[in-house]
Amino acid sequence: MKFNKLFIPGPTEVRKDVLEKMALPLIGHRGGDFAEFFNGVTAKLKKFLNTKDHVFVSTSASTGIMEGAILNCVKKRCLNVTCGAFGERWHQMTKACGFEADILKSAEWGKANRAEEIDKALSSGKYDAMTVQINETSTGIMNDYRSIAEVMKSYPDIMFLVDAVSAMAAVDINVDELGMDVCLAGVQKAFAVPPGITVFSVSEKAMKRSEIAKRKGYYFDFCVFKKYADKGQTPTTPAISLIYALDYKLDQMFDEGLENRYARHVEMAEYTRAWAKERFETYAEDGYQSVTLTTVRNSRAISVADLSKFLADKYSLQIANGYGKTKEKAFRIGHMGDLTLDEIKDLLSKIDEYTGTKS
Ligand SMILES: *Cc1c(COP(=O)(O)O)cnc(C)c1O
Repeated sequence: MKFNKLFIPGPTEVRKDVLEKMALPLIGHRGGDFAEFFNGVTAKLKKFLNTKDHVFVSTSASTGIMEGAILNCVKKRCLNVTCGAFGERWHQMTKACGFEADILKSAEWGKANRAEEIDKALSSGKYDAMTVQINETSTGIMNDYRSIAEVMKSYPDIMFLVDAVSAMAAVDINVDELGMDVCLAGVQKAFAVPPGITVFSVSEKAMKRSEIAKRKGYYFDFCVFKKYADKGQTPTTPAISLIYALDYKLDQMFDEGLENRYARHVEMAEYTRAWAKERFETYAEDGYQSVTLTTVRNSRAISVADLSKFLADKYSLQIANGYGKTKEKAFRIGHMGDLTLDEIKDLLSKIDEYTGTKS
């Protein structure tokens, strides 16, 4: 197997010191030592997300908690706000879970969702829950989640379910101020921790919904998460090694300073965006371009597969092709997690080398 440095939008490049935390010996997850350790992780996560709500760690991909949010929080009918593949998947999941659901799409892929349109759809009175992505990783759109959160304040009975998978740990998410009922993220994106666990917040209101939910199963039952979290535990055997890595990463993020971390992401995004506009075009609409990845429209009709091969073979660097229907029509450069501006500059200069562009 050949390992490349990852500039893909997940999983992201994980530093060696983080990986090494996973080599620590295991401890039993029903013992006092674990409870003390896990309570510490939970406290750090609450501080990190600015919330007094419940915060849990699930041993699953993010998709598990996306499904969990539906099972615990939808009563009858959900509005799935979408601007790309992950939003569309949440809609499929909502229906697969047996609920009624409508989709509210952005004008097209590459465009963001608009708070006014969400407001209009919710004012119909048909919905008891709404799902939305902060950052749509398939298209490189970052929705204006603050304005969407403002709209949601007028609908206190509609659960505000947020996929923050490629946003959390890269942008400020103040869960309490924004009034999010569920906010979830797998740690393999901007946290720069290996995949396998998902962190999520659950508001008191969402917990009440969970209490009356009729078909929520067991593995993702929020009430069960709470029952165990109250004892410093998780319902089932957690990926303990990954929680070691997460704990270490949280300390590192506080040491870096969250504001500094968010500013570093903006800096990498602005640089990549400017580069993309000079050399190609950007795929995502102006004003809504993601701070965690840049989707470059392949306006020069290069072979993205060939570019990827060049970067991998010659420099052991990896970028991502377009997602689904944008394959070869675009490529995606992830600039999240622990990557630095210098590493981004190095990658972009190598893409310039491939296209024969003098920088
Ligand atoms: C990666 C991603 C997901 C899926 O995450 P899994 O951990 O693979 O389930 C969902 N939503 C967004 C926005 C993502 O970027």
